[in-house]
Amino acid sequence: MSNQYTFQTNLLHNKHKFDPATGGVSVPIQHASTFHQHDIDTFGKYDYSRSGNPTREALEEVIAELEEGCRGFAFSSGMAAISTAFLLLSKDDHVVISEDVYGGTFRMVSQVLTRFGISHTFVDMTDLEAIKQAIQPNTKLFYVETPSNPLLKVTDIKAVSDLAKEIGALTFVDNTFLTPAIQKPLTLGADIVLHSATKFLSGHSDVVAGLAVVKDPILAERLYFLQNSFGAVLGVQDAWLVLRGLKTLHVRLEHSVQAAEKLANFFKDHPLVSKVYYPGLADHPQYDIQQAQASSAGAVLSFDLKNEAVFRTFVENVKIPVFAVSLGAVESILSYPAKMSHAAMPEKERAQRGITNSLLRLSVGLENPEDLIKDFSDALNKVKQ
Ligand SMILES: *Cc1c(COP(=O)(O)O)cnc(C)c1O
Repeated sequence: MSNQYTFQTNLLHNKHKFDPATGGVSVPIQHASTFHQHDIDTFGKYDYSRSGNPTREALEEVIAELEEGCRGFAFSSGMAAISTAFLLLSKDDHVVISEDVYGGTFRMVSQVLTRFGISHTFVDMTDLEAIKQAIQPNTKLFYVETPSNPLLKVTDIKAVSDLAKEIGALTFVDNTFLTPAIQKPLTLGADIVLHSATKFLSGHSDVVAGLAVVKDPILAERLYFLQNSFGAVLGVQDAWLVLRGLKTLHVRLEHSVQAAEKLANFFKDHPLVSKVYYPGLADHPQYDIQQAQASSAGAVLSFDLKNEAVFRTFVENVKIPVFAVSLGAVESILSYPAKMSHAAMPEKERAQRGITNSLLRLSVGLENPEDLIKDFSDALNKVKQ
């Protein structure tokens, strides 16, 4: 069994280390959409690639093992994974959801699910009392993103899952920001873990993909039914790219997390930065929870610049990171939540959540952190005092 090894080694020495048919040290890409059947009464394991494909299945097995779930599912995007998981709900169900959830999830819940009679309450998931207050007789799901985007608020996954179990609701956790290299929500009581594999899991800004891992076999059957019914499956080339990216997940994150820690401290000490959001800083309000439920604070941080003038000068002069949406790549990515990830959120809602017009989010890549610090420092030095 491969799980006698550590996570780091399991990334390489898992069931798909080599192809059993040829010994090839890379999962073969099976392009076939349909599969010849030898017997008119009993079909083989694969019949049609929406329903099952060996390349996609390899990725699904690898992620299931890494997240310590019973079954994995690969989708055409993170939003396809998330939306398909939401289809486990029915008309008249209610969702309690993190208030600073990913913009696309916010849009799905507030503008799509509502049309199908599924209601929601956005809450500050760091506040257990607020979660309890939000519970309704028809609450069927607690939807958690931790650390949250872009303010890196940390939710106690075990406490929320326990609360969900008390009322017979499910808990979904979007684990995109940390990946199973750092945090394993299913081991803390969650029922489904969701990923935008576009980010750290694939890691090279060259594929859009989503994953879901389920803990319980009965729930897994239900999600499989939905994956096959809705049909938003991941293509085989993209499944292969995610499998390749996964092999370096540990080394990439190890470097990026260390660099993020350095950068968080640099920003914390800079006079033109008014606030740093990073759960690895000892003064982060949920520092202890993060320490208890994850092995590090991850490679994403946000910081608020002193005012909009400082913000503009900084963005105009910074050179190394790409200025873009997305995160979790080999190159550092600087993004502007107000106009990018959270553009779908009305300004009033954004302001209420602390997503100001001078807030930037940084996903730290594989550059030498000293080069990044120099770049950021030079850009801030351009501000006229
Ligand atoms: C990017 C992202 C998503 C959406 O994933 P896509 O692959 O872009 O569809 C969902 N959740 C989080 C936290 C993300 O960062």
